[in-house]
Amino acid sequence: MDGGSIPAPPEPVTYLCGDCGADNTLKPGDVIQCRECGYRILYKKRTRRIVQFEAR
Ligand SMILES: [Zn+2]
Repeated sequence: MDGGSIPAPPEPVTYLCGDCGADNTLKPGDVIQCRECGYRILYKKRTRRIVQFEAR
């Protein structure tokens, strides 16, 4: 560790299918398409990020 900036790992994002409403967890670079029905319009879910603060 040289104190350089470490690139954050890609966070998978959960999308809701606009058609069937299935959850689709996609990583950056994945095709935006429902895995259940093949619908191509997905809505980004409002994610509540779990943020942990280090109390030190
Ligand atoms: Zn779907």
